[in-house]
Amino acid sequence: MTDTTMEQRLTQVRARIEQCCHAAGRHPDEVQLLPVSKTFADELIVQAQSLGLLRFGENRAQDLRARFEAFSQTDIQWVMIGHTQTNKARDIARYAHELQSLDRLSLAEALERRLQREGRALDVLIQIKTAHEESKFGLDPQDLPDFLQQLKAFSTLRVRGLMTMATQTDDSDEIRRCFALARQWRDRLRAEGHEECTRLSMGMSGDFELAIAEGATEVRLGSAIFGAREGA
Ligand SMILES: *Cc1c(COP(=O)(O)O)cnc(C)c1O
Repeated sequence: MTDTTMEQRLTQVRARIEQCCHAAGRHPDEVQLLPVSKTFADELIVQAQSLGLLRFGENRAQDLRARFEAFSQTDIQWVMIGHTQTNKARDIARYAHELQSLDRLSLAEALERRLQREGRALDVLIQIKTAHEESKFGLDPQDLPDFLQQLKAFSTLRVRGLMTMATQTDDSDEIRRCFALARQWRDRLRAEGHEECTRLSMGMSGDFELAIAEGATEVRLGSAIFGAREGA
């Protein structure tokens, strides 16, 4: 246990983001922070909110819904960042401010139906698989051009960019390879006429500095802000 407060951690994280941006010749405004509240107590979100954070990532649809309900009196926005079963599309359509883990057509179809019914549109990032591990979700990047073409038929889904998770390893070359691959695909899609595909959500507490060096526009940080997870 440490006595570091959330405010101190947040200040440190912001300073590190700024340093990485400078080192990479980027402006700090180019990199957004998405605090990831998954598994942390509601009290910690209240605390984070008092520090000015108003947008949080959750990785399970049922948790996102529970947070939405617990914080319905606030203007907090809930961002879905985890693998989403098709039968959870309704919860996403109702409670998610955006979805960063769109990875297949069947989910897009289910979301389109539910969003039509809710009468709203949803910003989405396409999660691509850049790591070699079997366990990681995400679209095969080779399928991106076709997938984007297919998504054009879904008027409620607004594609804003790509999301990825790097291989879990200490090998920084391998981590950078994952992030660089995502950036190259983002650049290629933009060059091929998908101008709206600008965002690159990549980098977690353990690897966000490499992600910023490789062009992340958004880093998703849980433990770096909220402290170590229980059992982690
Ligand atoms: C949990 C999670 C994060 C944040 O992880 P930390 O290591 O706590 O920063 C980021 N992205 C996704 C998709 C996650 O599931």
